Amino acid sequence: MHVSRRQFFKVCGSGMAGTSLVALGFTPNAALADARAYKLMRARETRNTCPYCSVGCGILMYSKSDGAGNVKESIFHIEGDPDHPVSRGALCPKGAGLVDLVKSKDRLRYPEVREPGSNQWKRISWDEALTRIARHIKSDRDANLIEKNDQGITVNRLLTTGMLACTASTNETGLLTQKFARALGIVSVENVARI
Ligand code: SF4
Repeated sequence: MHVSRRQFFKVCGSGMAGTSLVALGFTPNAALADARAYKLMRARETRNTCPYCSVGCGILMYSKSDGAGNVKESIFHIEGDPDHPVSRGALCPKGAGLVDLVKSKDRLRYPEVREPGSNQWKRISWDEALTRIARHIKSDRDANLIEKNDQGITVNRLLTTGMLACTASTNETGLLTQKFARALGIVSVENVARI
């Protein structure tokens, strides 16, 4: 027979020992305050940086599993990193919803190319993608580099290739990105981190 915890303690308080009640078949329902299973228990914690904007907030990503061979690792929770010197654990709504980006079925996971004249994207390897990009930049630079301006001053401008760089770069990566782009003469460098 089930009684609520309130009823159980009321009866106990009126004189009948709890053990006697249990012996008679009275059992209180499980306490609502029972500890819930901690959802991050046995998860792997990985530190990273939010990829969305230049603030560069620190994040903690939690994934199953604990390294067991029969469990496929999968990120299931992301929260602010309280030890991060910039954000101190805070995330804006975009950062707080990062797990939706990770799980999105529309997320781009590998390089794709749409050949001239085609309306289909096809998957290619990273090696092929990098080779193609290098070949396109070289061909474009060979054809379109402006070495001197109207006054005959050396400018070495490449106006027909642009570069879009990554937000989650470190200062060092940002510096190298700039050096690489400017060395080629590229003027249009864009970055959501605005380096
Ligand atoms: S959490 Fe928000 S403010 Fe922080 S880096 Fe991400 S998008 Fe920018």
